[in-house]
Amino acid sequence: MKSHVMILATGGTIAGISQTPAQSDYCAGQMGVQDMIDAVPDLKQVARISGEQIANVGSQDMSFDILIHLTCRINELMTQDDIHGIVVTHGTDTMEETAFFLNLAVNSPKPVILTGAMRPANAISADGPLNLFNAVAVAADPDARERGVLVVMNDRIHGAHSLTKTNTTSVETFLSPVNGLVGTVNYGKTAYFRFPFRRHTCLSEFSSRFCQPPHPALPRVDILYACVDMPPDLIDFSLAAGARGIVIAGDGNGNMNQGTMKNAAQKAAQGICIVRSSRVPTGTVGRNVELDDDSLGFIVSDELNPAKARILLMLALAKKYGTSHIQQLFYTY
Ligand code: ASP
Repeated sequence: MKSHVMILATGGTIAGISQTPAQSDYCAGQMGVQDMIDAVPDLKQVARISGEQIANVGSQDMSFDILIHLTCRINELMTQDDIHGIVVTHGTDTMEETAFFLNLAVNSPKPVILTGAMRPANAISADGPLNLFNAVAVAADPDARERGVLVVMNDRIHGAHSLTKTNTTSVETFLSPVNGLVGTVNYGKTAYFRFPFRRHTCLSEFSSRFCQPPHPALPRVDILYACVDMPPDLIDFSLAAGARGIVIAGDGNGNMNQGTMKNAAQKAAQGICIVRSSRVPTGTVGRNVELDDDSLGFIVSDELNPAKARILLMLALAKKYGTSHIQQLFYTY
């Protein structure tokens, strides 16, 4: 008997349509889940398929409301013995954030696979159908269990912790620059290289919170982008607007200018969590390299880019954890 894979659709370019097959402008989130399934009849070769529409947005419009609804639905479906894996179709713009959030919040060892497309569904050489086929194959594969939330795009299997979008238009946009791929998938044939190194899903301390209502309210965390002569008072504006934590997308190894550093240290002394991440696309941010984090009271993001660091900080602040514990979380997740 074939595995049963549920496809949860949220929109994106994989559900996008352009006026003609050879033009760059298009509208994301146009097709419904059943149309996407019907467009790839070969899906039936690899699994029994059913679909459900969670949302239909460009992922630039993904919200925590949709994300929490998606997470709870996944956690609910995964309790059913007759569901073996879930595929989430999603826009690529914020796919890494959704994947990382689910990696922390899904409470099941069964495969959860995100996929999408860089070209709309009716484009010449649309990449969505094969991505969907490969994603279903990975979701149906028992060897994909216990590997955390995965992203399948362009024949690659990425871990949620490590992948990042690196190109605005190329089908080879996702890379896993720090830790490498989890595996590959070629017309449904899978090969795995490793398990993710960081804690995830069932072992995550956050996953039980998204099973039963009430779900935790997530505090606002802002990302501030470091640059030449960065205005230090951006931190004050964020806090005045209600942010409870700040992620600095720092220069290089998470650096910031003197004015920003002094202001951030003052806020850290008042109990605001300041996380140093980096605007550089690859590499880690280390403690006490050019800045003395121990005396400034800062947290470093280690391997997490600013967008993922923000998600971990939001979940940690919702649990009311303190600075030193949150630092440990950045080495754990
Ligand atoms: N803006 C689109 C989205 O993220 C891009 C894509 O899906 O590739 O929904």
